[in-house]
Amino acid sequence: MDGAVNRWKMVTFKLEKHPMTRVIDLRSDTVTRPTQAMRKVMMWAEVGDDILRDDPTVLKLEALAANIFGKEAAMLTISGTMSNQIALAAYTRPGDEIVVLEDAHIYNLECAAASALNGVQARPLPSDTGTYDKAQLEKAIRIPGIQHASTRLICLENSFHLNRGLALDRAAYEDSIQVARDHAIPIYMDGARIFNAAVALHCDVKDLTDFCDAVALCLCKGLGAPLGSLLIGRRDFIDEARWIKQRFGGGMRQAGVIAAPGILALTEMVDRLAEDHTRAADLRVGLENMGIQVDRGGIPTNIVNLDVSPTGWKAQAFADQLVQMGIKVKVCSENRLRMALHHDIQTTDVEYVLQTIGELLKDSKAGSAV
Ligand SMILES: *Cc1c(COP(=O)(O)O)cnc(C)c1O
Repeated sequence: MDGAVNRWKMVTFKLEKHPMTRVIDLRSDTVTRPTQAMRKVMMWAEVGDDILRDDPTVLKLEALAANIFGKEAAMLTISGTMSNQIALAAYTRPGDEIVVLEDAHIYNLECAAASALNGVQARPLPSDTGTYDKAQLEKAIRIPGIQHASTRLICLENSFHLNRGLALDRAAYEDSIQVARDHAIPIYMDGARIFNAAVALHCDVKDLTDFCDAVALCLCKGLGAPLGSLLIGRRDFIDEARWIKQRFGGGMRQAGVIAAPGILALTEMVDRLAEDHTRAADLRVGLENMGIQVDRGGIPTNIVNLDVSPTGWKAQAFADQLVQMGIKVKVCSENRLRMALHHDIQTTDVEYVLQTIGELLKDSKAGSAV
């Protein structure tokens, strides 16, 4: 009883102490709201009918994206999921097989669309490192035969794993590129957060995608646009993709209002991702100093993956406590949580999060000692 009253007082105090009594939302980088500049360009965007290819702002965004990636053409879609599934539709026929990383978004978080929409069988391979083991990939490619599916696509993801955000450098893909070339199988890159990877690795996105036949990226994650994704590749691929998008119901009319903030996402929001990475690094160190275990596998970006079990907490209970202090995080499993940094999170927010967790742990230790 006493404990409950004390906790209530503590919560009130903390919310007052924080300069803005607002929620610090670390669940995902998808929660970012469009910047004032984005809202302005949306308001004044020059528009037309994009299904008739008449929207100048969409055309401008697509040309910009193709140029940034050094590919022939690009197409705006509603979502990363839609871009991924359009790509699968373009590269396969029902009954084909694709190779996927077993923890990839395309395999786990798209409502089984590969099979449900595209009739494709996915061949998942172990993916702890975020890339394929050469021997395993080689073995997974089907030999032509009357009883065999045909392996039509090798799928990659960078940054890899939505709860870990690992940046994979070009060298990590050399084996996969070799196997793909040996068998003449195209490579598809789900690059929802490819700019996070490129910024973390201090390289050009082209270095991470020039070997890919097609790439998709999300405008609405760290880049801060309200919605939208781009699918990028050869002109003939994009021509077919455009037709598939229409079939999927993804054709849009005055889509310039989406494309305008997308242009700002690509031109103004990429370099600042480094700030998110720095804050994520600060958060990792601070959490480790409190005895929380932090995922340290690979090259990190804006996502912090933590294991609270060394402190005696379960992830859900821990997250429930944080919500009461104005902090939202994502529960990944019994012991693991995710915190994603993004442009709505400031350095003072990270300090508040660390301070709050520090007090929560001190409090719970004191509680367990009684
Ligand atoms: C977010 C994400 C997607 C899907 O994007 P939506 O816009 O949410 O459909 C695809 N792949 C990866 C790796 C992602 O992180």
